[in-house]
Amino acid sequence: MTTRPRVVIVGGGIGGLFAANALVAHGIPVAVYEQAAELGEVGAGVYITPNAVRHLERIGLGPAVAKWGARVGAASSYFRHDGTRIAPVQVTDAKGWNACFGMHRADFVQLLAAKLPAGVVHTGHRAVAFEQDADRARVTFANGATAEAEVVVAADGIHSELRPHVFPPSKPVFHGTISYRGLIPRERLPHWPTDRWEMWAGPSKHFLVFPVRHGTMVNYVGFMPTDEEMKESWSAPGDPEVLRREFEGWDSRIGEVLAQVDKTFRWALYDREPLPGWTRGRLTLLGDAAHPMLPHLGQGANQSIEDGMALATILSQTDAAAIPAALLAYEGLRRERVAQVQLGARKHGLRVDSASGDLATRDAELAAHAEFRKQLYSYDVVPLARLT
Ligand code: FAD
Repeated sequence: MTTRPRVVIVGGGIGGLFAANALVAHGIPVAVYEQAAELGEVGAGVYITPNAVRHLERIGLGPAVAKWGARVGAASSYFRHDGTRIAPVQVTDAKGWNACFGMHRADFVQLLAAKLPAGVVHTGHRAVAFEQDADRARVTFANGATAEAEVVVAADGIHSELRPHVFPPSKPVFHGTISYRGLIPRERLPHWPTDRWEMWAGPSKHFLVFPVRHGTMVNYVGFMPTDEEMKESWSAPGDPEVLRREFEGWDSRIGEVLAQVDKTFRWALYDREPLPGWTRGRLTLLGDAAHPMLPHLGQGANQSIEDGMALATILSQTDAAAIPAALLAYEGLRRERVAQVQLGARKHGLRVDSASGDLATRDAELAAHAEFRKQLYSYDVVPLARLT
C-alpha cells in the first residue's frame, strides 16, 4: 500500500497556497510556512486564465473565483496608443471556454487560504536553513522552529531563500522597464466597462486596464522605459503626476483613468533565465522561486497554479520511498512548458512596446497572437501528470 509523503511548503503566496490546496484535495498532508505575520497581498490586480481556472475548479474553488473575480469577455481588445482598435484579445481556450478573470490579489490569497483546513498555515516563520538526508528534509526558521517532511517545496518567490540549495545563486535580469499600477473604485469611473481587458500598445510603452472584484474596481498598469534599476519591490510609492505625463497625448480614455489616480505603486520588471534544474533530492521549487517571468502574458500566477496541480497529481501516485524520482518527474513535466512561457513573455513585451518600430507588422502580430493564447489556455497539465 502507498504511504503518503508529508509535504512542507515554504512561502504562503499564490503559488504556495494553491499547491497546499491541491495537495489537500489529493489527501496529502501538508504544512505551509510563511514569513509574514499575516497572509496578505498588495492592492493590485492579477489576471487568471483558463489554464489555471480549470484547476481552481477541480479543487472546488470555481464558485469563489466566479464570486470574487470579474469575468472579461469578447469585447477585450488591443488598441494603438491613439485609441484605434487593433485586434480582439483571446479570452477562450480552443473549445471556446471563457474563463479569464480579473482578481484583486488580496481576494485571491484570501480565498485560497480560506479553503485550507485550520492549522495548515503557519505565519511568522521565515525559513533560514535547509538540510536533507536519505529519509527526510528539514527546514529551520528564524524563530528557532524546525519542520520535517519527506518533501520540501520552495514557493518563496523571486528572492527564494531555498533556491541556492538546488542551484547556484544567479542575478535576476532587469529589463529596463518600470510599471506604475493601482486600483480605482468603479464609482469614480462610472462609465468604465467591466466586461473587458484592454491594452494600448504604443511606442516604447503600453497601458493595461481590467476590472477586479466583480467589477467594483478598475485595475490599471502603465509600463514605460527607465534607466533606474530598483529592487523588485511591488509596493514602492510612485508619483501620479509622472505617470500622467508619460501617457500625455495618448487615447483620451487613458487620460480618463489617470485623472482618477491619487495613489500609485512603482514596480521594476525583472525575470530570470530559465533554470536548468529545479530539484535536489527532496527539495523542489515552485512558482516565482523556480521561474520568475515578465508580466506581459499575465502568467506568473497561472503557471504557479499549473505547477501546484502537477506536483499534487504526481505525488498522489507516489510512495514516500520514491520521492526524489517523483520530484524529478514534476520538474521534467514543468520546466520546458514554463521556459516557453517565460521567453514568450519577453517577446510579447517587446511587441506591445512596439520595439521594432514597424506598427503595421506589430498590429499583424498582435492579431496573430490570439492563436498563441488559445494554445496557452488550452493546456491541461493533469492528464500529462497522471501519465508521468
Ligand atoms: P510570491 O507571490 O512572491 O510569494 C512568495 C511568498 O513567500 C511570499 O508570501 C513571501 O512572504 C514568502 N517568503 C519569501 N521568503 C520566505 C522565507 N524565507 N520563509 C518563508 N516565507 C517566505 N501573474 C499572473 O498570472 N497574472 C497577472 O496578471 C499577474 N500580474 C502581476 C502583477 C504584478 C504587479 C506582479 C508583481 C506580478 C504579477 N503576476 C501575475 C505574477 C504573479 O503575481 C506571481 O508570479 C505569483 O504571485 C507568484 O507566486 P509565488 O507564490 O510563487 O511567489
